[in-house]
Amino acid sequence: MFLHNKKLQYTVRVSEPNPVLGSLLLEQFGGPDGELAAAMRYFTQALAEDDPGRKDLLQDIATEELSHLEVIGSIVAMLNKGAKGKLSEASMEEAELYRSLTAGGDSHTQSILYGGGPALTNSSGVPWTGAYIDSRGDPTCDLRSNIAAEARAKIIYERLINVTDDPGIKEALGFLMTREIAHQKSFEKALYSIEPNFPPGKLAGMPQFTNVYFNMSVGDGDMRGPWNNEPTFEYRDAEVAVDGGSGMPEVSLGSEELQVVEKAAMRLQSKAGSDPLTGAMLGMGGTNGSSSALASQMDPKAAKANAQQQMQSGSTEPPGAMRSGSSASSSSSSGSQTE
Ligand code: MN
Ligand code: MN
Repeated sequence: MFLHNKKLQYTVRVSEPNPVLGSLLLEQFGGPDGELAAAMRYFTQALAEDDPGRKDLLQDIATEELSHLEVIGSIVAMLNKGAKGKLSEASMEEAELYRSLTAGGDSHTQSILYGGGPALTNSSGVPWTGAYIDSRGDPTCDLRSNIAAEARAKIIYERLINVTDDPGIKEALGFLMTREIAHQKSFEKALYSIEPNFPPGKLAGMPQFTNVYFNMSVGDGDMRGPWNNEPTFEYRDAEVAVDGGSGMPEVSLGSEELQVVEKAAMRLQSKAGSDPLTGAMLGMGGTNGSSSALASQMDPKAAKANAQQQMQSGSTEPPGAMRSGSSASSSSSSGSQTE
């Protein structure tokens, strides 16, 4: 069960309303690295966890993240207090009210649509989604993901601290940031208390490739460092078919499957020796709407000859001027149709 305490985990003191800052802080309320995402990430992992130590850890941190959600949400609500009052009581001239809400960001959306309450969106108004949670149900995977999630949350708090000069908000954000550092440390300890924890899962990698570094991007800028140096790595040039095979894909088909595959391939075969007339060539035949240009549209052979001539000479002259040799039958037939 959950039991709620009406006091916050950290005291929130906001100097003055600021709906624009409120919008930015929504990033840690309903954003991908925000407190709801963190709480749901650890809460759902805890439900499935069988190890008593990790289950307790995940339950403690999930519940703390919900407490952080309450802190950040309270800051947003305080920052919007003024806007909410002004909107509902229409205490300002319309233009003045408009300016106070739209000084930047999406704060007007927040104020009007959500009535100044913290919305479960990120700072750009994108609704919170369970897709932010990437648990896979394996602790050596999920703990690594949790460590990365805490690192991201720490950085976002740091950036938010840098955009406000309100000392009370700076302090509360500093506390939330600090707790993400503490969580990262706990998750690191929990990961390394599983031995072995690398590689994740039960299957070992193929030994001939586990310690190879392939130099796949070739040219100026190739660099060597601990990420590809001996003795940890064997540095090798890019190569095809590293298994020593043909490098070509193969599949065994039943005789019936093989028959229809071959039939389809035959039907769709390209004729390498052909030189087909295309729409692009037809289009090159008529540029000025003259009857001779029309004639070339009517006569595919003439159009093709004309297009090939243009391609060879690179000429942009009207095609009619170049078509002295075109057949009488084509021009007369076009003449009778255009009259
Ligand atoms: Mn948190
Ligand atoms: Mn955390």
